[in-house]
Amino acid sequence: MSHTDAPLLTVTGLRKSFGYTLVLDGVDFSVQPGQVVCLIGPSGSGKTTVLRCLNGLETPDAGLVAFSDGQSQDFAVPVKGRVAKERRAALRDRSAMVFQQNNLFPHLTVLENVIEGPVHAHGMAKDAAIAEAERLLDRVGLAEKRDAYPHELSGGQQQRVGIVRALALTPDLLLFDEPTSALDPELVGEVLLVLKELADEGWTMVIVTHELGFARQVADEVVFFDGGVIVERGHPRELFTAPKNQRTRRFLDRIL
Ligand code: ADP
Repeated sequence: MSHTDAPLLTVTGLRKSFGYTLVLDGVDFSVQPGQVVCLIGPSGSGKTTVLRCLNGLETPDAGLVAFSDGQSQDFAVPVKGRVAKERRAALRDRSAMVFQQNNLFPHLTVLENVIEGPVHAHGMAKDAAIAEAERLLDRVGLAEKRDAYPHELSGGQQQRVGIVRALALTPDLLLFDEPTSALDPELVGEVLLVLKELADEGWTMVIVTHELGFARQVADEVVFFDGGVIVERGHPRELFTAPKNQRTRRFLDRIL
């Protein structure tokens, strides 16, 4: 795939503190259409907070988040009330997030979980939403589970439903926050396989992951975080085999 187009998303100078704790200390990166970017780094380095800022779940203290179609938000300019709410909603609509623990509604069936967003948030006709949900469930091998409840599924199946729920929102950008870290080891593979297929289909994805083998296989770019900043980024072939920065080297030495 060509990555010569303008970036789909450009993030500049993202800063975020929680109380007195500075968590993001000026983060800059961009994502090309169709690109898979894996965020790696020690626990607490700010990776999840970046995703949450992109998805409107957290409000950055400063920074510019800009999409290629011109939609942009400058968080250095504080806004309140209705404007802040609209701004969060506008940002949220661009992406869909898959969490570490899938947040499926326990009292809804698989199908109901998947159509909830399209029907209630996007105002899609129910018949069309059901048809699309069935197509997507079939794609991840869960067609026959459409009427099951989340507790009747394995962790891997639940996570695949979580992915389908994100896809059903037809976002520009898919965000994954350690999508396999809560799974038993034998269930990790089936979820990573779905992610690989989505990458091959050309979805634009930002993935926080500890699965470095997966990142090496799938990522177009790996971004190494430490202490709220991006220390190093590069193609996985370079970053994993010949990291330039000592902090990256130390992290990889500990993990690989
Ligand atoms: P990572 O994803 O790299 O493990 P996080 O983005 O989850 O890192 O967290 C970065 C830091 O921010 C951690 O020190 C974490 O404790 C802190 N943090 C994250 N969310 C909150 C919050 N809602 N309130 C207070 N501190 C938080």
